[in-house]
Amino acid sequence: MTIGWIGTGIMGLSMCSHLMDGGYEAVVYNRTAAKAQALVDKGAKLAASPREVASACDVVFTMVGYPSDVEEVYFGENGIFKGIRKGSIVVDMTTTKPSLAERIYAKAQEIGCEALDAPVSGGDSGARNACLSIMVGGDQSTLDKVMPMLKLMGTSIILEGAAGAGQHTKMANQIQITGTMIGMSEALLYAKKAGLDLKTMVDTISKGAAGCHALNNLAPRVIKGDYNPGFIINHFIKDMGIALEEAKRMGIELKGVELVESLYRKLQEAGGGAEGTQALVKALGEF
Ligand code: NAP
Repeated sequence: MTIGWIGTGIMGLSMCSHLMDGGYEAVVYNRTAAKAQALVDKGAKLAASPREVASACDVVFTMVGYPSDVEEVYFGENGIFKGIRKGSIVVDMTTTKPSLAERIYAKAQEIGCEALDAPVSGGDSGARNACLSIMVGGDQSTLDKVMPMLKLMGTSIILEGAAGAGQHTKMANQIQITGTMIGMSEALLYAKKAGLDLKTMVDTISKGAAGCHALNNLAPRVIKGDYNPGFIINHFIKDMGIALEEAKRMGIELKGVELVESLYRKLQEAGGGAEGTQALVKALGEF
């Protein structure tokens, strides 16, 4: 069976690669074609547009950057909906707006196709090691059809509700992560001032109630002075923006998210938007 994959960046490249290792043939497209080369070297066919991918495949996955990218890839002049065949399934794994997931679902239904929103958590390491948590919105019957593919990328695959519910769950995930990122950064800052051995401190507290992805995966990078992205600040600011917009629409305030977003914006304004989210520590003081 041939699957389509659009968006072969940090996450998409590994995820599509797992599908190919699982025996699926792939037709791929990325805005910057060079970033799809590793998959082409592995046997994938390179398409010239999302439209061309959709016209060649029954299941199309997308893992691009921002809501505007998702919009272009699905609804654009050379987008998926211009080339898709009746009966096909689209799975958007980008972190994007719940309302956009609902629009994609409605359009797919209208033309005799199926759609899922299926954003992920677990970071670049989760994508590389095929142990992502996948949060799905849409119909159980559609999920059943793509479950064998999702199982090649993740270890937790859960239907959260109707279209958009996967993206809402991902927003809850990102709201939680604002807390672990500021906690991890301040713990490192404090421990350094107190003269502790940072590696020992992280090893110790990660085994208790403070244990989390940020401590396990990102604190060691901060200790080494490695601010290369796993997950770029620009994308996290995008996610916090969506969460704040949705919260406002629902009439609630997210004061913690507002604080963390303002700290990340400081880094972005200083030119650090392409660094990894672990660079938050730099917004808090001398480290
Ligand atoms: P990334 O490295 O920037 O990858 C996104 C890829 O999509 C890029 O290669 C980009 O092409 C391509 N793309 C963007 N717009 C496109 C378009 N209109 N047509 C075709 N290709 C397009 O980002 P990532 O880290 O893989 O993240 C992807 C998504 O997953 C984001 O929504 C992010 O928030 C989410 N996410 C990331 C992580 C993480 O840890 N990295 C974890 C969970 C979720 P170019 O090469 O031309 O830019």
